[in-house]
Amino acid sequence: MKERIAVFPGSFDPFTIGHCSIIKRAIPVFDKIIIAIGLNDDKRSFFSKEKRTEWIKAIFRDYDMIEVDTFNSLTIEYAKKTGAKFLLRGLRTSADFEFERQIGQVNKSLYPEIESIYLLTLPEHTYISSTIVREIIKYKGDVSRFVPDIIASEIHHSYL
Ligand code: ADP
Repeated sequence: MKERIAVFPGSFDPFTIGHCSIIKRAIPVFDKIIIAIGLNDDKRSFFSKEKRTEWIKAIFRDYDMIEVDTFNSLTIEYAKKTGAKFLLRGLRTSADFEFERQIGQVNKSLYPEIESIYLLTLPEHTYISSTIVREIIKYKGDVSRFVPDIIASEIHHSYL
């Protein structure tokens, strides 16, 4: 049987408990999930690609079926290169839906063989975003409710 490989693309700047929840809920659905950090040259990131990679790897170090990678191309081209047949995304709001609908339909017309799969966020994670976390850090607030413990403790030690 063919391996069901999914790519979960994002900026993960930083990775939040919302992202983590989507991954954990997707584990029973796929054989392998590649968490792919998109490096968009137009968008200056808050955390380095090395830090984002290190954190996500640490969070999933006990999960053999989860890989972490970076990419610098069209998401769908990257997914095709990995052999993935699925793109995994999370949906929080109707704004997310409208954004994802357009990208999903473009991706489908470019590569019909790759299916986009969407998981609705848990209600308690709907308001969590990397943008909000970065904003809280700028004003030296407490982010421990929004990011996994390992990220929260490093932010508290090194960024506040
Ligand atoms: P992007 O810049 O591609 O939106 P993000 O890192 O913000 O990258 O998000 C990556 C994926 O995770 C997207 O599908 C996004 O909708 C989803 N996501 C972001 N925040 C949450 C959350 N709080 N709950 C569930 N899914 C989320």
